[in-house]
Amino acid sequence: MSINQNLEKLSNACGVTGRESEVKELMIRLMTPYADEIVVDRLDNVIAVKKGKQKALKIMLAAHMDEVGLMVKTITKEGFLQFAKMGGIDDRILPAQRVKVFSKKASFPGIIGSKPPHIQKEEERKKIIASDELFIDIGAENKDDALAMGVSVGDPVGFDVQYVELGKNVVVGKAFDNRAGCVTMIEALKLMENTDYTVCAVGTVQEEVGLRGAAGAAFGLDPDLAIALDVTIAGDVPGVREFDTSVKMGKGPALTISDSGLITHPKVLRWLLDSAEEEKIPFQIETGLMGSTDAARISLTRQGIPSGNISIPTRYIHSPVGMLNLKDIENSAKLTVAAIQRSSSYF
Ligand SMILES: [Zn+2]
Repeated sequence: MSINQNLEKLSNACGVTGRESEVKELMIRLMTPYADEIVVDRLDNVIAVKKGKQKALKIMLAAHMDEVGLMVKTITKEGFLQFAKMGGIDDRILPAQRVKVFSKKASFPGIIGSKPPHIQKEEERKKIIASDELFIDIGAENKDDALAMGVSVGDPVGFDVQYVELGKNVVVGKAFDNRAGCVTMIEALKLMENTDYTVCAVGTVQEEVGLRGAAGAAFGLDPDLAIALDVTIAGDVPGVREFDTSVKMGKGPALTISDSGLITHPKVLRWLLDSAEEEKIPFQIETGLMGSTDAARISLTRQGIPSGNISIPTRYIHSPVGMLNLKDIENSAKLTVAAIQRSSSYF
């Protein structure tokens, strides 16, 4: 399947952090044709292994499967759902969103209730409503009705947004952070064909709440080096200063010099830069960003694992909708493969 088709499937699937099973099953299905072996570890990370020659380098790719979302915390006696945020979401973007509640029985739509402006007091209009004052309305008559619909405390709630193609190569959808990385990883496996190295392509869980799945996966695999495939902020929209980020959508994968959890090992950076330059793959450099990726956690595993990022520039991340250019995924996959093929010259 094409990059576009894979991204559509994965974007529309639910994978609120800690509840990644739908995405996990898709990843197993989509990576199986290109892997010698698929392993699901104890934390539910999915590992597609391409076996290389004995004693060859072992390279870990990591793309987190989870997405930011909500979780049902309490059901009020009137039948409204109060929720906890799972991952970093700005309270300001929550009111009036359409969401989907995933109960054991079925998934059903809801909306995050908001007060019409007519009945807001002057000071209310100026203030940000905190998420603990918001609620999800699923149209239930009362708590018993909500329970009869199948809702339970702990149910994941995702944004209800369908994937759309806009202009040339530009698409919009939910959870591009990090289904874009997942698609890049699948595409890299597809392009790789045979390699002397052992490649472990890992769909990780629970990245959005502290890079948790990657920790166990990296310890278990004990790779020689690692690349996290994730999205990064595209700042090419009004109101973002060049100083905050100069990364632009459609201008190629971003290579991180440093973020809040990782200073990319100089050898890793050189390896990725040379690979992009030699293969004439467009790329961008970013540094000093807040936030981090699985690479930060992997790099601290055991005695330390040299790690870096290849990131897909994405607008509006951690909101219900993101936007990206499919060419950036294609080039990120090409760069991943180009780097892997020349890894023994650097490590
Ligand atoms: Zn991410």
